[in-house]
Amino acid sequence: MINANEPQPGTASSKAPRQTDDLHRLLIERVEEYAIFALDPDGYVLSWNAGAERLKGYAASEIIGRHFSVFYPAEDLATDKPGQELRTAATTGRAEDEGWRLRKDGTRFWASLLITALRDKSGELVGFGKVTRDLTERRAAQERSLESAREIAAQQAARAMAEKRSDEMQALAGKLRDQAEQLERQSIAAGVANRAKSEFLAAMSHELRTPLNAIGGYTQLLQMGIAGPVTPEQQKQLDRIQRSQQHLLSVINDILNFSRIEAGQIDYRIERVAICDAVESVVTMITPQADEKRVALRMEHTGLPLTAMADLQKLEQIILNLLSNAVKFTAPGGTISLSCAVEGDVVALSLSDTGIGIPADQLEDIFEPFMQVGRSLATPKEGTGLGLAISRDLARGMDGALTVESREGEGSTFTLRLPLAR
Ligand code: ADP
Repeated sequence: MINANEPQPGTASSKAPRQTDDLHRLLIERVEEYAIFALDPDGYVLSWNAGAERLKGYAASEIIGRHFSVFYPAEDLATDKPGQELRTAATTGRAEDEGWRLRKDGTRFWASLLITALRDKSGELVGFGKVTRDLTERRAAQERSLESAREIAAQQAARAMAEKRSDEMQALAGKLRDQAEQLERQSIAAGVANRAKSEFLAAMSHELRTPLNAIGGYTQLLQMGIAGPVTPEQQKQLDRIQRSQQHLLSVINDILNFSRIEAGQIDYRIERVAICDAVESVVTMITPQADEKRVALRMEHTGLPLTAMADLQKLEQIILNLLSNAVKFTAPGGTISLSCAVEGDVVALSLSDTGIGIPADQLEDIFEPFMQVGRSLATPKEGTGLGLAISRDLARGMDGALTVESREGEGSTFTLRLPLAR
């Protein structure tokens, strides 16, 4: 060992104990894997070996006599770590530590060190021996394996998560498939039930019409007095029978119509139809009813010969439904106006009335079959509640649409849109 206070190797005598001492000294001096050096009781470097020079970068002449705290980074100096380690070694005999230390060029290495207190025979502290090893590589390897263990753990966690997700997705897909199948079964069942209902309604209303027509016919015969004289009282009762027969017939016709549309039994004969002609022929039919109720009918002419692609009979049926509703729901003194317009490649026929209007929350409901505003079992109303459902279905069957705008208490506007004929 290169020692500042002791004679250098080679000055030793040839006595056996001295030879052993020299051997030890040489051994320590030459060891390159460990920095081995001595400190005086205050921490000043006394000796320096080859390992210390290799590890820390100082030559013996540069470091001997300097305080060993130069090996510690600033954060350790702030807590007086060098001083603490010496005190621990002085009181307990040794101090061990692992931590960052500085080389001469300022770079860091990860050191494992052991400080041993050196005492003379009388027990007096004469200094410290310090052995330091560079564990930078080992630490880096440990960190690398820790990092790769972390990565593997993260990958495994991600894989487990992905597997869990895929299981969940599969379960969800299975559930959705089941639901879709169930819906399909239900929709087939509903379709079958719906068709059965429509067919039943069609058959039933058809069967009811025959006897009803007979009732109408025989009532007329009686009224005409063909089978014998009729008293004025009997005439009045026959009138009532006839009105009821007609009402019932119109209800049954509605039901028959609706069930036929629903059953897809309606054929459309689409041709070029002059809207004004269709409107005029229906207005002629409805005028007596409107006059009787003192409701004015106004047709606003555009002057344009508007032609739509439609089935004339179905178009007239829609206009008739809309006009009779307008008369029915408009108080005496009110007005119904009809107007036509072209919107791109569509003809729009609007029917406005100054009637009772429709509550905003029921504007869509009134197109549902059997829907009547304010109707309940306790307050049955005139009509079937099928007119608008039929009209909308017919409009759609002709590639058109039927919509409504209304304000309660002010009136309603129904608009029928059909493809414009070019
Ligand atoms: P119905 O006239 O036989 O009751 P509709 O399907 O033609 O059946 O009409 C359904 C309901 O829509 C009517 O009962 C009425 O409450 C409402 N409604 C239809 N047209 C009008 C209108 N012009 N003004 C106010 N309410 C209307």
